[in-house]
Amino acid sequence: MKEKNLSPFQPAMTEKNRLLGEAVVKALSENGFSAKYVETREEALMEVLELIPEGVSVGIPGSVTIREIGALEKLQERGNKIYHHWDPTLTPESKNQRLTDENNSDYILTSSNAVTHDGMLVNIDGVGNRVSAMAWGNNPIVYVVGINKVAKDLQSAIQRVRDEATPPNALRLSIDTPCSKTGHCMDCKSPSRVCRALLILERATMGRKSHVVIVGEDLGY
Ligand code: SF4
Repeated sequence: MKEKNLSPFQPAMTEKNRLLGEAVVKALSENGFSAKYVETREEALMEVLELIPEGVSVGIPGSVTIREIGALEKLQERGNKIYHHWDPTLTPESKNQRLTDENNSDYILTSSNAVTHDGMLVNIDGVGNRVSAMAWGNNPIVYVVGINKVAKDLQSAIQRVRDEATPPNALRLSIDTPCSKTGHCMDCKSPSRVCRALLILERATMGRKSHVVIVGEDLGY
C-alpha cells in the first residue's frame, strides 16, 4: 500500500479517510454493530479471513466490493464452500436455488450500498435477496464497506445509492434503465427499474452477529 501512495497529496487524504472511517465505526458500534476501520483492501481481506472460520459455507449475495478485495478466491482456496449467483453458467431454475443457498449459508459476506455518519446501513435491491439476507438470518453477517460509500445522512445515502451505485450496476448487468443512459437516477417508472426494496438498518438486528469493516479506500459502487 505504501508504494501505491506516490502522490504528495495522498497522506492528507489517507488521514481524512481515517478520521471519517473511525467516526463511522464509533457510530456503528453505538448502534450494535461490531465495527472496525482498516486502511487498505489487503487489511480488509485479513479481517474477513479472521471473522469467517475455515470450513464454513459463505453466501455472497452480489457484491463488487467482495470481489475487489479478493475474498471470494481466498475463501475458496482455503476450503470454504462459496454460494454466489454471479455464475454465468447458472440456469434460471438453478439461479433461484442458488439465491436460497446464499441466504442459508453459515455466514453471509457482502457490502452495503451506503453507511451514514450516524451508523446506519442503507441498501436498495431489485430482486430482494440481498436485503432479505441483511434483514434476518441466524447466520452471522460480515459487511465490507469502502470509504466512498459513507454518506452524511439517510437522504444523501439513498441518493448515493441511486446516483452512484445503481447506474453502473444497471450497465454491468445490461439492464435498460433510464440511469443506464444518463448516469444518474431519474426516479423512473420503468418496468426494468431495479430500485424496488429499500432496507435501512438503523441498528444491528437483535440476536445476530453483525460485523462491519470500513475500509479507507474506494471499493465497489
Ligand atoms: S429509480 Fe430507475 S433511474 Fe433511478 S436509479 Fe433506480 S432504476 Fe435507475
